Amino acid sequence: MTAPAPFKVKTLCRSTAARTGTLQLARGQVQTPVFMPVGTQGAVRALPPHWLREVGAQIILANTYHLHQRPGEALVERLGGLHRFMATDLPILTDSGGFQVFSLRKKEISEEGVSFAYELDGKKTFLSPETSMAIQQTLGSDIAMAFDECLPPESDFETTRRSVDMTARWAERCLKAHTKPEQSLFGIVQGGMYGELRRRSLAQITSLPFDGYAIGGLSVGEGPEKMNAMLAETMPHMPTDKARYLMGVGRPQDLVDGVATGIDMFDCVIPTRHARGGAIYTFQGRIRITHAKYRRDSYPIDTACECYTCRNFSRAYLHHLFEIGEVLGSTLATIHNLRFFGDLMAKVRASIDDGTFAALRKDIHALYPEKEEEGGKEEARRRFAEDALPVEKPSKSDTRPDTSSKAVRTEGRRSEVRPERAESRRSEVRPERAESRRSEPERAARRPEGRDARRDGARNEGPGRGDKRAPARREDKPREGHSGRRDGKDSRPTKKVRR
Ligand SMILES: [Zn+2]
Repeated sequence: MTAPAPFKVKTLCRSTAARTGTLQLARGQVQTPVFMPVGTQGAVRALPPHWLREVGAQIILANTYHLHQRPGEALVERLGGLHRFMATDLPILTDSGGFQVFSLRKKEISEEGVSFAYELDGKKTFLSPETSMAIQQTLGSDIAMAFDECLPPESDFETTRRSVDMTARWAERCLKAHTKPEQSLFGIVQGGMYGELRRRSLAQITSLPFDGYAIGGLSVGEGPEKMNAMLAETMPHMPTDKARYLMGVGRPQDLVDGVATGIDMFDCVIPTRHARGGAIYTFQGRIRITHAKYRRDSYPIDTACECYTCRNFSRAYLHHLFEIGEVLGSTLATIHNLRFFGDLMAKVRASIDDGTFAALRKDIHALYPEKEEEGGKEEARRRFAEDALPVEKPSKSDTRPDTSSKAVRTEGRRSEVRPERAESRRSEVRPERAESRRSEPERAARRPEGRDARRDGARNEGPGRGDKRAPARREDKPREGHSGRRDGKDSRPTKKVRR
């Protein structure tokens, strides 16, 4: 009983299983591969929703378990549904609550469903395929997810087999209970860390008429090698005519690897959670803005980025905000990180379309290596810098205040680059190439009125100057790394990050 979410493949990669496509939803079309920012409790943390489109988000995530608990789907419905409630017209995907429930320590699982006490008030609650469908339909999301069982990665074969079979029976019940024609419903393939059970689950779930198929139970602490092995077992057998969603995965290197296996959709708390901790993703690698080396750094976070944060603020300002514990620091860092992930996926789509995806994947791995010694970072940085705006060295003597534009006001920088010079340098990047690599929001931002005066010298010298001065060290890295689905704070009771 679902409205089909017609998925159309646009381009197939020649050297990998990557593909671009469009997913048609009630609230608009989504270009894939796509990264979905996470708004677990009905808010993308630290980000006013009007920024979502500006950072290139096409669809966001919310969570059944949390919204059922607070404020309750009945209130959300009374106040106009989830979109109205959180004031966004972007499509919303709701997770079924399965993952959150199964990460609770105290719960009783039966064929019927799962009983547990809410961790906030101890209230006895029961979630099942039917109740999860009812909650998601009441919330009014665009894509609902089937209620599944998500096991810890260390579960044994027999436990996992029983779980896979129950998840399949629950999937059928979800389809029966789902009655909202304008809402799409995706099934979830499980199977733990067993290739055989992954294929068993895949056969069971994809035999059912879901609108799309997700891969769950990965990125739960098993490590990238195991995850990629499970993807290799599963992906070649996935239906090609439906969207494929890898749940809870979001490190840049995992995104390009997932895309290479044919994944179309991803979600993860990494960009938002890490932003609030001061870990910033750039096309020069990741930086930790709280590091003392940024205290006087007049450059924007990423000279290749055109987000609001990079157009207006220096690294020194961001460093200062984190230093004093100002919430604006979280917001500005979140804007940038989400824009990075939006831009990354736009580059991925463009590269699949123009046949350069394999090279882009290699560059992302060089910038975000599993081990520092992997190399190739400088070359990758240079290639991404080609897309950056032309910039010149700041003059130490030039500290004239400039009030002519909204561009970055770090003194001694702006007035150094004469606009006509900057203009002539820009043509060195072939316009059609540069343009084709950009996302639609980015292109819109490049239209004259969106441009502000940021070109006129807002950027200086080569990108990533701060990074070159002192290459990222081990302590610059956030600890959470790979397991990125749910924010500890975002998503009590979840400890691990999803699937
Ligand atoms: Zn930025």
